[in-house]
Amino acid sequence: MARIHLIEDDAEIRRLVAGAMARAGHEVDSSASAMDGLQRVISDRPDVVVLDLGLPDLDGAELLRMLRSVSDVPVIVATARDDDESTVKLLDAGADDYVVKPYSAENLEARVRAVLRRASDGKPATLQVGGLSIDIAAREAHLEGELLDLAPKEFELLQLLMERAGEVVSKREMLAEVWREPYGGSERTVDVHLSWLRKKLGETAAEPRFLQTVHGVGVKLVAP
Ligand code: CA
Repeated sequence: MARIHLIEDDAEIRRLVAGAMARAGHEVDSSASAMDGLQRVISDRPDVVVLDLGLPDLDGAELLRMLRSVSDVPVIVATARDDDESTVKLLDAGADDYVVKPYSAENLEARVRAVLRRASDGKPATLQVGGLSIDIAAREAHLEGELLDLAPKEFELLQLLMERAGEVVSKREMLAEVWREPYGGSERTVDVHLSWLRKKLGETAAEPRFLQTVHGVGVKLVAP
């Protein structure tokens, strides 16, 4: 099962695709405009985006570039043009795959499965640093075998720091990745969540174990 977000201005296509994908066991949400779609992808974090290139408010290729600057979600582009030059351009602009309109539900479903398979390749389902481990799919974190009671943002923050264990992650990067605020947000928000996370990990800023502050730069997760 995948969570698919369809950005398509044609209501009939939205209805048909949503129905077919639901029958294939997926969960489908949709947007009728580029700007709405961009916002929904940022807030809902779907597993796959299916993007119609012919949208009323913004060129689909332009939207693809904007999506790519904020998310690495797999994107399947639905295009009316089937020539080598336009497909190469789309793939260069960051599309993972494409379907030519009119496309069949079976074809789209096969593409969805293929991009999901590629997206999960090489991404570990669990991460471990010292006595700390997280299961990304189950959204569970354990410390010395004990389940940690983490709020969603605390889990995402921990996941980001564990994915980049040993590297300094800046508060700006945390705001972009966890709060989806690439250009705004308050570092105070990050500080507050870091202190909550520290508390649950049994440490303080003054006596860190996993979360080492690198002053003026950010935070680095290490094995104590
Ligand atoms: Ca269209």
